[in-house]
Amino acid sequence: MPRDPRHDILFEPVRIGPVTAPNRFYQVPHCNGMGRMFPNAMIAMRETKAEGGWGIVSTEQCDFHVTSDIQPYTETNLWDQGDELYLGRMVEGVHRHGSLASIQLAHSGQDSGNLYSREVPIGPAHRPVSSLNHPIQARAMDLSDIVAYRRWHRSAALRARDMGFDMVVVYAGHNNTVPGQFFYKRHNNRSDAYGGSLENRLRLLRELIEETKEAVGDTMAVVVRMAVDELMGPDGLEWQNEGRDAIEMLAELPDLWDVTIGDWSNDSQSSRFSSEGYQEDYVAFVKKVTTRPVAIVGRYTSPDTMVSAIQRGITDLIGAARPSIADPFLPTKVKEGRSSDIRECIGCNICAAWNNLSAPSRCTQNPTFGEEWRKGWHPERVGTASAKSHILIVGAGPAGLEAARAAGEAGYRVTLAEASDTLGGRVSRESRLPGLAAWARVRDYRTEQIATMANVEVFQASRLDAAHILEMGAEHVALATGATWRQDGVGQTLRTAPPVSEGTRFLTPDDIMAGQRPPGGPVVIFDDDGYYMASVLAELMAAEGRETWLVTPATLVAPWTQYTLEQHAIEERLAERGINMLVRHTLMSMNDGEAVFRDELRRCDRRIACAGMISVTARLPDDDLWHALNGSAELEKAGTRSLTRIGDCYGPGLIAAAVYQGHRYVRELENPTEPDAIPFKRERHVIEA
Ligand code: ADP
Ligand code: SF4
Repeated sequence: MPRDPRHDILFEPVRIGPVTAPNRFYQVPHCNGMGRMFPNAMIAMRETKAEGGWGIVSTEQCDFHVTSDIQPYTETNLWDQGDELYLGRMVEGVHRHGSLASIQLAHSGQDSGNLYSREVPIGPAHRPVSSLNHPIQARAMDLSDIVAYRRWHRSAALRARDMGFDMVVVYAGHNNTVPGQFFYKRHNNRSDAYGGSLENRLRLLRELIEETKEAVGDTMAVVVRMAVDELMGPDGLEWQNEGRDAIEMLAELPDLWDVTIGDWSNDSQSSRFSSEGYQEDYVAFVKKVTTRPVAIVGRYTSPDTMVSAIQRGITDLIGAARPSIADPFLPTKVKEGRSSDIRECIGCNICAAWNNLSAPSRCTQNPTFGEEWRKGWHPERVGTASAKSHILIVGAGPAGLEAARAAGEAGYRVTLAEASDTLGGRVSRESRLPGLAAWARVRDYRTEQIATMANVEVFQASRLDAAHILEMGAEHVALATGATWRQDGVGQTLRTAPPVSEGTRFLTPDDIMAGQRPPGGPVVIFDDDGYYMASVLAELMAAEGRETWLVTPATLVAPWTQYTLEQHAIEERLAERGINMLVRHTLMSMNDGEAVFRDELRRCDRRIACAGMISVTARLPDDDLWHALNGSAELEKAGTRSLTRIGDCYGPGLIAAAVYQGHRYVRELENPTEPDAIPFKRERHVIEA
């Protein structure tokens, strides 16, 4: 299909100082949990973005001095020549596809604990290190420190140029870099030329931009990445005040303004809390106060919305981190008039979570992300099946749908049978819960792809039993039948079921999603799962006018959502909705009309009168078919060569895990890993002789 001419504007080259971006798609700096620790994975991942058409591909935060050591996070470094090896390879990979390579020079200042380097952290003032609650303090930089700092930055820019980077980002964003920390009033109490007035607080940033331009500006574009609002009202930076004033004061200095809102949890808001283009209100002023090109982000996945942002004069470049993770080939698809093939980011922030856990990022929508090198997986090419065998997939949740899509793409004959009359399994159910609508994209991308495949047949309202499966005699059978929430209260903290009086039953998320409700009166949601589900159900109950309690043994509400950057927003929303929250309370028993909790802090019992309890704890696999068929001689007689469990039926987990397993099933069907082998290539460190 020819490209929609309205999208042509996205493919216009953009002049940025001495370089020209081939189009307006800018993969902004984004962490990925690979960085210096898993450099081969990082290089292949960045190259894949360039191959997919992103005109600019940037590194993540690249710490340029040992006083900026953000261990345990695994970003890139530019400390010495050892780092130049992998960064240089990344440049080569990006250049191979005609894209510009950009590097973000970062120094985390008072945000870095320096756990590895053991250098004393530095910053504008004597302050405790702000990340991870370290009992470590940053010391105030004196004027000689500032001179040294500028020298390190300049030298890093020169080294970046020598490695072949086309663009260098002076990074003052996200509350976690030295020039930003000098800029923010609350961090900077200095009385010298670098403190006090806005001009003084911006002095360091101005010097860095000028010195970088002087050092490399003839060959490299100098970008400033900066937050203009922190969503803290007058307690922080506001775009109407110093956010705007700062851009005005430095307006023509950089070659490109890359503007965001801070901190990272605001910049990377999940879809539960924001929709596409959510930063526009804060950054729209920037193009009015500078003639330099501007880049913004905001989880843009639709080319129409991108075009609109450009035509409305808000931005020149479409910056993207997550949309480029979910679909590294997004620009190519738009270019080729295949926008309907875009695998849209669902805004779940699993990618951020893995990074925050110091592991290579994973993506719910793109199972190949981070696997480009270690498994050799390409996001757009699953390979061709040598034998066009018949695969029967039972269950059309994320695992079954992805297996059917990938198997269809590989050329297998596929039958997908789904018990219910809707496809999507858990994502269809969960996407109807408050704030989770975008999760339906996991289903929609796959059902739309499958609809174009003549070799994939889909049967809805078709619950299969063992006899049906035997009757079909498919050569391969994948059981993707999912999992069910436990009804007995067993979870992370409670390893055995708490006593429940006769006639009292916990309702589970499955019951609620199926339309059941606790009898009238207050509702207690017991969360021993720790992720999003309990908080979402609490919102639902409150929206239905119920007095709602969310009780958890954890020390925080929805503790795991700290990794997805959502915890504060969840807590705030529940408070706004009037939901009662109790942490460090473990369920002891549930009787008619009363739940008894142990207050773990005060070591006493707490009784809450409630008409019903929803327990959100853990899930059990729906694997009856597996037990009925595994090892059965009849299966062999029917001609079935393999029977495999995938997704939640194998091991209940995240949606991302189910999609990954569905994908992996197809990749490995004809190339199974040896049972005792490690199923991927490993990164190796070189041991000195
Ligand atoms: P996953 O996340 O592993 O994909 P889900 O629970 O989302 O798991 O999806 C499992 C799907 O399997 C559900 O839509 C469910 O209706 C379907 N299913 C379960 N048992 C059968 C069966 N016997 N025959 C056909 N479909 C089934
Ligand atoms: Fe988007 Fe979720 Fe993938 Fe991150 S993990 S890129 S938020 S779909």
